[in-house]
Amino acid sequence: MTHNKKQKTLIIGIIFIILIALIGTLYVIKSNETPKALLLISEKDDPFANNIQSVSKKNKKHIVINRPETDQSNINEMIDEIEQDAITSLEEYKKSLVLDWNASNLFDQYVNFEISISFDQEPAQTFHYILHFDSLETLEVTSLFNKKSIETFNIENNGSLIFKETEITMGDQTFPQDKIPDVIIKDYGNIKPTPPPVVNKPKPEDKPVPGDGKKYVAFTFDDGPSKDYTLQILDTAAQYNAKVTFFTLGSQVEKFPDVAKSIVERGHQLASHSYNHPDLTKISKEDQAYQINTTENILRNTTGYTKNIMVRPPYGASNEQLLSHLPKTYMNWSNDPRDWESRNAQTICNNIINDTKPGDVILLHDIYDSTAQGFACGIKALAEQGYEFVTVEQLFANYGKTTQNGNIYRRP
Ligand code: ZN
Repeated sequence: MTHNKKQKTLIIGIIFIILIALIGTLYVIKSNETPKALLLISEKDDPFANNIQSVSKKNKKHIVINRPETDQSNINEMIDEIEQDAITSLEEYKKSLVLDWNASNLFDQYVNFEISISFDQEPAQTFHYILHFDSLETLEVTSLFNKKSIETFNIENNGSLIFKETEITMGDQTFPQDKIPDVIIKDYGNIKPTPPPVVNKPKPEDKPVPGDGKKYVAFTFDDGPSKDYTLQILDTAAQYNAKVTFFTLGSQVEKFPDVAKSIVERGHQLASHSYNHPDLTKISKEDQAYQINTTENILRNTTGYTKNIMVRPPYGASNEQLLSHLPKTYMNWSNDPRDWESRNAQTICNNIINDTKPGDVILLHDIYDSTAQGFACGIKALAEQGYEFVTVEQLFANYGKTTQNGNIYRRP
């Protein structure tokens, strides 16, 4: 009896210790997810005041989510998307996920908003947004700066922002390069001027007028084909009797061969954007050849396309070695409505309307719903202004220009 009692006491004691430890652990997790103090200073309602926190365990995986719920559905959807992607990755490869956020004032009218994701306590990956304080509308980072201060801004290349002046103007303030606000340097900045690897930069005064006096532009779509958006774009193009150009990835054509066939059957230009989107200036000659030649074969074998296959190098990045080693007709763009950045149909449409000049090669991506919609809106407005829409090949012909292999172009 006494022996049994001792055992019982021991077991109860152990259970008690385990319980204390468990509560302690939970408390630590709990205190870690305390919302960050908001730095937003405003008399107005704080748009990020409503914070959602959750700690859950699913299939032995830990998920800690700390995120705001704003009254703007576009922001919420953007966060939902990041959260959903993170949970999918967690299920596939990782054990734990912490999603957190932060927001701070940027001058009076803007908010620097970031969502960070960390798997298995590894360094966090951060998504940055600049939002209007009142509307929470997302803004292009570049729109905050005086345009002539910026040499390049490439979000695909880790968001590096390269300034070409010794002073930059942002909002209504001017800073010498070494006094640019920390948040900009930390989140977006790379103020070491490194020249972009694009050759044959066109002169800005290069504004051709075709012999017939009409206004032509070429819409181009990169990174597809995709399942739904490419077909939507084809239907929109048909409404305006437009012919457009698709710089497709070999890997995507393998996934959606029927969409690639529709592009050709409906009389559009089929072109290459490599097999799977590497920076061609950073891979070996052999890999370059694979990226270019394999894709060309896939495009021809899938669709029976027989015309010249132009190449748009991923990120627009090319160098002399690529052009001479693989002498194709390389085609960049002269007008970038930044659909990849805003993912907002109205912004894309406005950019198309505001920035298009006759003879432009316009860069879009047929992989976003917002692009399919922004294109429909933009082409309608340009059609009303008397523009006509042709393939890149036809655009050069209409302006009396020829293209040669081993060169890179941006517009006729
Ligand atoms: Zn691309």
